[in-house]
Amino acid sequence: MKLTQDLLIRLQAGERPTAPELATLLNAQGKACDLIYQAANTLYQRVMGYVVHLRGIIEFSNVCKNNCWYCGIRCENKQIERYRMSQDQILDIARHAKRWGCGTVVLQSGVDSFYTAELLSDIVRQIKNETGLAVTLGVGVRTRDELALIKSAGCDRYLLRFETTSNALFSALHPDESFLQRIRCLNDLRELGYQVGSGFMIGLPGSTAEMIANDILFATELKLDMIGCGPFLAHPDTPLAGKPLLEDRSMYYKTIALLRLLNPYAHIPATTAFDALEQDGRNLVLTRGANVFMPNLTPGKYRTQYALYPNKPDVDEEGEECVLRVRQRLLALGREIGTGPGHARRVSVES
Ligand code: SF4
Repeated sequence: MKLTQDLLIRLQAGERPTAPELATLLNAQGKACDLIYQAANTLYQRVMGYVVHLRGIIEFSNVCKNNCWYCGIRCENKQIERYRMSQDQILDIARHAKRWGCGTVVLQSGVDSFYTAELLSDIVRQIKNETGLAVTLGVGVRTRDELALIKSAGCDRYLLRFETTSNALFSALHPDESFLQRIRCLNDLRELGYQVGSGFMIGLPGSTAEMIANDILFATELKLDMIGCGPFLAHPDTPLAGKPLLEDRSMYYKTIALLRLLNPYAHIPATTAFDALEQDGRNLVLTRGANVFMPNLTPGKYRTQYALYPNKPDVDEEGEECVLRVRQRLLALGREIGTGPGHARRVSVES
C-alpha cells in the first residue's frame, strides 16, 4: 500500500516510472488497486471535466488479407460471411451519425485493397463536405503516399495499434507484418499531420505484468493523441481458441488507469471489448481513466460478421438505438456528453 502511494505520488508529479515500478502497480491488489483507479479518475476529471466524446464506428468491410492469430476476421476464418459496404451506404450512416450527435465517425475495416487510397479519399471528402464531422480511419498499414493522399482529402485521425512491444510475440501473432512496419506507418502519420492513435492488446497469451508495463511505457513514448487498448479475448475460430484470460482481471483496468496517469491529455476510449470481458465493463473503464465512447453504427446485418473477438456486445441493435442507449448510460454515470469533434487535446495543449 505504502509502495503504491509513493509510486503514485511520483507519477502525479510527472516522473516517468521504470518498467518494474509499473509492474508493481499492475500487480497492486485491494485498497492499493483502488488508489490507482481513484488517481486516474481524479486526473481525468481535472483534465477532461467529466466530458465523454462519442465517436460512431462504421465497420465498413470485414475483408482482410491478413491472418493475425487472435482475430475473428483473419483471412483463414471461413466461418464468417464477408461483406463490403458501398460508398453511398457509408455516407448515409455518417449523415445519421451527425443527426444522432456523434462528433466523429470512425471508419474501420480489415486490410482490404478494394478500398484504394483514391476511394477512401473520396469517401472522406464526401463525409467532410456533407457533415463536417471529424473522420478517423482504421484500415491497417498503408504506404506514405496513400496516407498523404487520404490526408489531403481532409482525414483528421488514424488508428493503428502496435498490439505488443514484444518482438517475439508480435512476430508469432502477425505472420503478414512486422513491428517495424507499423512503427514506420505511425511515424508517417505523425509527419503527415494526422492525429495519431495506437495501443495494444492487454493480456495476450504469454504476456506478463512486466510486458504490459513495457507496452504502457512505449505507448507513452509515442506521445499519442488517442490510446486504444482492450483485453485479449480468445476467438473460437482462431488458432488462439481457448486461451485463458488474465488470472488477475483487475490488471485490464489498472492498465487503462496507468495509461491515463502517464498520458493526462490523450483521448482514451472505453473499448467495446471491455463489455465482452464483463457486463458493464465499459462503465468501469469510464470511471478509471477513459473519456471516449464509441457507439457502433454498423448496420445490424453486418455486425455479427465483424467479430474480431467473441461475445461482442450490441450486435442486435441498430445505430440510433445504440447511440440512445449510450447516452442514457453516460448520463447515468454522471458524465457529460461532449459536443463538437473532440479533437486531440495534446495538440491544443502543446500549441
Ligand atoms: S487484426 Fe486487423 S489486420 Fe489482423 S486479421 Fe484482424 S482485421 Fe486483419
